[in-house]
Amino acid sequence: MARRCAEALVAGVVALILLHIAAPALAGEPVVAARLWPSPDYTRLTLETRNEIKYSVFSVADPERLVLDLQGVDFGPALESLPRNLRAEDPFIAQLRAGRNRPGVVRVVLELKQVVRAQAFTLRPVAQYGHRLVLDLYPLVPPDPLAALIALDGKVPKVGVAPKGKADDGDAGAPRSDRLAMIVIDPGHGGEDPGARGRRGTQEKDVTLLIARRLKAHIDAEPGMRALLTRDSDYYLPLQVRVDKARRVKADLLVSIHADAYIRPHAHGSSVFALSERRATSEAARWLAKKENEADLIGGVNLDGKDRYLAQTLLDLSQTATIDHSLRLGNAVLAELGTINTLHKPRVEQASFAVLKAPDIPSILVETAFISNPSEEKRLNDRAYQDRLARAILAGIKQYLKRHPPQQRPTLAALPDARGGRRAE
Ligand SMILES: [Zn+2]
Repeated sequence: MARRCAEALVAGVVALILLHIAAPALAGEPVVAARLWPSPDYTRLTLETRNEIKYSVFSVADPERLVLDLQGVDFGPALESLPRNLRAEDPFIAQLRAGRNRPGVVRVVLELKQVVRAQAFTLRPVAQYGHRLVLDLYPLVPPDPLAALIALDGKVPKVGVAPKGKADDGDAGAPRSDRLAMIVIDPGHGGEDPGARGRRGTQEKDVTLLIARRLKAHIDAEPGMRALLTRDSDYYLPLQVRVDKARRVKADLLVSIHADAYIRPHAHGSSVFALSERRATSEAARWLAKKENEADLIGGVNLDGKDRYLAQTLLDLSQTATIDHSLRLGNAVLAELGTINTLHKPRVEQASFAVLKAPDIPSILVETAFISNPSEEKRLNDRAYQDRLARAILAGIKQYLKRHPPQQRPTLAALPDARGGRRAE
């Protein structure tokens, strides 16, 4: 018995030695990280390497599978643990396995829950990342944000929609219109793009989502208002897609939530930004807009085949009116933020933020606080403070809507059934 064990041990040692000898000849590119980002919009698989790698993707039917072959790549711990990152609730991937397929090729097989439209592309090193190979799985029919809203509304109870809020602002606060005001809330960053990071490790993308969810809850509790989040989990959404979502639901307003870092750690206070048609109103605003627009590089957008600057050609005279209203909204929100936090700047600043470029929707970007400032980072993590920020933004939105109720137009209100009998009046 002992002898057999020893033999086995010897065999093991020999195998190890052989592996070691063979290793230099087979040495491939190690995958330093493998990440999965599931979401209702799409699921993304990211493989990060130090050098660019060659790959091929093909699909196999019965059962529906997607195969990703990686050339000259080492099968290491990152790929080995990849299947464990798969979540049962992933809308697209049922099972995932990775392993050596043939000499020099590592194969990743995704068993699918539905037929997908797959997109693979590479990203050059940026920010904290090396080379990235990205595989995005999109549904054949993209989810309709409008349908999501209607589905949600079905769950909202008909009575007791607005138990609070009425007492403190009476009639004056509620928008005077027979149409619901649709507010799209955009939690900045997400997924591959963590946004700014505080000294204690707080990630901007997490804080923005928490504040945005609170804001949505408060808005939905108002009679005459309804909110939609551009993203409600941790994944990256290209800036243009955020704008497109707002336009698809014919949003009245778009509010993008952020909590950025600044070069100076002592920078503190809240700020509000609107789009500038020409030049930024300050060097800091220009710097911040450039940084926010880089989100697409960090978050990862496939540049092939799409004119992502199409939206810019839509800029026209109507943009001037939209920007004027963005400034009005921004001033109202800034005034309310001033009651709970110091203001970084006393007025709304302007720069060329890509997420604010919807030509027909007044849009603002709220920098709730500086995550780079240690005391503000602490407050950003505080649930009660997140709620105060959300309530302040809501109060600003209501101030704006009081003066500028949503215009009557064929939108959500005109949809059959969706709103039946659930008006507050
Ligand atoms: Zn940001």
